[in-house]
Amino acid sequence: MAKERRKAVLELLQRPGNARCADCGAPDPDWASYTLGVFICLSCSGIHRNIPHVSKVKSVRLDSWEDVQVEFLASRGNAVARATFESQVPPFYYRPSASDCQLLREQWIRAKYERQEFTHPERQEPYSAGYREGFLWKRGRDNGQFLSRKFVLTEREGALKYFNRSDAKEPKAVMKIEHLNATFQPAKIGHPHGLQVTHLKDNSTRNIFVYHEDGKEMVDWFNALRAARFHYLQVAFPGASDADLVPKLSRNYLQEGYMEKTGPKQTEGFRKRWFTMDDRRLMYFKDPLDAFARGEVFIGSRESGYTVLDGLPPSTQGHHWPHGITIVTPERRFLLACETESEQRAWMEALRKVVDRPMLPQEYAVEAHFKHKP
Ligand SMILES: [Zn+2]
Repeated sequence: MAKERRKAVLELLQRPGNARCADCGAPDPDWASYTLGVFICLSCSGIHRNIPHVSKVKSVRLDSWEDVQVEFLASRGNAVARATFESQVPPFYYRPSASDCQLLREQWIRAKYERQEFTHPERQEPYSAGYREGFLWKRGRDNGQFLSRKFVLTEREGALKYFNRSDAKEPKAVMKIEHLNATFQPAKIGHPHGLQVTHLKDNSTRNIFVYHEDGKEMVDWFNALRAARFHYLQVAFPGASDADLVPKLSRNYLQEGYMEKTGPKQTEGFRKRWFTMDDRRLMYFKDPLDAFARGEVFIGSRESGYTVLDGLPPSTQGHHWPHGITIVTPERRFLLACETESEQRAWMEALRKVVDRPMLPQEYAVEAHFKHKP
C-alpha cells in the first residue's frame, strides 16, 4: 500500500505544472507541501519547514504517504495553487528564481502562503502606495560602519532620498528613480539582507549599501523601488507593455569579482581591482564597497568596434595572475588578468554576451557620454 501511494505521488510529478518548483521554478522538484498541495525543490522545502503553521513538507521519494495527503496533492498541484496564491501578484513584484538569495525566496514564500498578500491586495500597501519612509542601516562612506538613516521614497517627486539626521530638513542625497537600481548582495555587504542601491550622478555610478534587520521590511523596500521604477517607466514609455517594462525595473549584475588591470599606457604595472559588469557598464573599484567607481568602461557591440579577446598581447608584462583578457574598444585596449581559468571563462562569457548583442538607439547616447568623459 505504502509503495502504491508513493507511486501515485510520483505520477503526480508528471503533470504539466508540477515539473518545476512552485516557488522558484527549479526543475524536477522532489519535495511536496501536503498542507498547501504544491511540489517544491529541496531548497524551498527548507524555507517551508520554517513556517510549520502554514506548510508541512515531505520527500516524494523517501517519506511515506497517507491516502488523504495523496488525494489532496492530486486535487491541488502547482497550477491550481498558482491560480490561488498568485492570483494578484503586482506586475512589478520580484519573482525570485533558484539562483536568487535566500532572503528573496523566503519572503516570496511567506508573502504567498503565510501573509497571503496576493489574494488580499490591501496587504500590498507597503510597496504599492507610491510613498514609503523608514530607517535603514546605511554603510558610511569613510569608516565602513553602518549607521541608521531615514529614507524616503516618493513617486510624486520621482526620488529616493536619505537624511543624515531624522529631523534634518535637507536630504543628504536625492537619487532619481529614473536612474535607480537595486540588487541584493548579501555576500559582498556581509549581511543576509544587504541591498546595493545605485544611481547615476553626472553619468557616473554611485553606490550605497543598506540593510534592515527585518527581512520583510527589506524586501518591501526593494519592491517599493521596483514599483516606483515601474510607474516612472509607464509614463516615460506610454505604449510599452508590462512585459517590456518588467525586465527594466532592476538589474542583477552579469559578473563581479577581482581582476588585475593596467593603466592606459600599459606600462604602469597591473593592479588588483574589484570589477562589476552592470549591463554595458564595466566598472572597477579599489574596494568592493566603494561609493563610486575608479573607472567605468562602456562595452558596446561588435558592429561598433568592440571585441573581447582571450589572453594578453605577447609583450605584456607585470601581471601576477596568469589568465588574461583583452578588451578592444574604438578608443583603446584594456588588459585584464584573472586568478583562475574558471573566472576568466566566466568574465569572457559575460563580456561576449554584451558584445554579441546589437546596440539599442538609446545605448549610442550612453556611449557618447562615455567618450566625452575625461
Ligand atoms: Zn524552489
